[in-house]
Amino acid sequence: MRYVFGPVNSRRFGISLGIDLSPDTKSCNFDCVYCELKGAKPVSYIQNPPKVEDIISEVKDTLEKFGDIDVITITSNGEPTLYSELGSLVNELNKIKKDKKLLILSNGSTICDEKVQNILNKIDIVKLSLDCATQKCFKKIDRPLKGIEIETLYRCMEEFSKDFQHQLVIEILLVKGINDNKDEIKKINEILQVIKPDRVDIGTIDRPPAYKVKPVTQDKINELVKHLTNLPISVIYKNKPSKKEDFDESEIIQLLTHRPQSQFDIENFFSDKSKNIVEKLLKEDLIQEKNIAGVTFFVVKKP
Ligand code: SF4
Repeated sequence: MRYVFGPVNSRRFGISLGIDLSPDTKSCNFDCVYCELKGAKPVSYIQNPPKVEDIISEVKDTLEKFGDIDVITITSNGEPTLYSELGSLVNELNKIKKDKKLLILSNGSTICDEKVQNILNKIDIVKLSLDCATQKCFKKIDRPLKGIEIETLYRCMEEFSKDFQHQLVIEILLVKGINDNKDEIKKINEILQVIKPDRVDIGTIDRPPAYKVKPVTQDKINELVKHLTNLPISVIYKNKPSKKEDFDESEIIQLLTHRPQSQFDIENFFSDKSKNIVEKLLKEDLIQEKNIAGVTFFVVKKP
């Protein structure tokens, strides 16, 4: 297999079959400090683009072999929306995916392009990155191709999300000393309140980065997450948290009203007593489980 890899189990999206649109060379219009690939000059196209029929033939073969797959993930050693044949690839994948979901992992840089938006509209789960709210921070972390402005991107994300009918996930990656301050996160939160994604994923560097930067601590993530409001937040933990919390019934209702908790959060942050209350609230139909782009959240049921 040249373009298809996996399946791999990802806690964020379930069991995933990956498609790499740029297996030989990094082809990205960003050069993020945290990239797990070697630093490279940003480009605006995929180098040596694969043929759609070659990818589809590999996907078909792999799907025959591994039935138990949740998502087919379009990704790249770089930015997948730079692939010139993305539209026909998505059309062909939609014909063969059956009950699997189609997912794309994009850095969000092409979201202002109407053609790209039309393609993304045909994808079940769209993940876009938003590491910064300000251009200064954006240039430091994502090191984009000249001319890409973060404000333009998040305005286009807002426009896109208004009509998008499927699931939109926004990912924030925290880098020590750059975007790990409450002012930047509060500004990102203001933007998120307008974009209204279905889910926000937040985490930090967990693989050797392209440049000399460091991850933030788990405590720092927990502190910054408090500034993200009214949205289902999925925190990517390196280690399981050791402290468990005791909540009473009203505290759980209040917590879930303000911030839906993921199954991982309930399992790892809630004491046994609190978990029993969650079970009781589920039985009483006061709260419900909701699958958001492959992650189960507990939310308060609307009357
Ligand atoms: S957008 Fe992704 S592939 Fe591109 S430089 Fe950043 S982390 Fe690497």
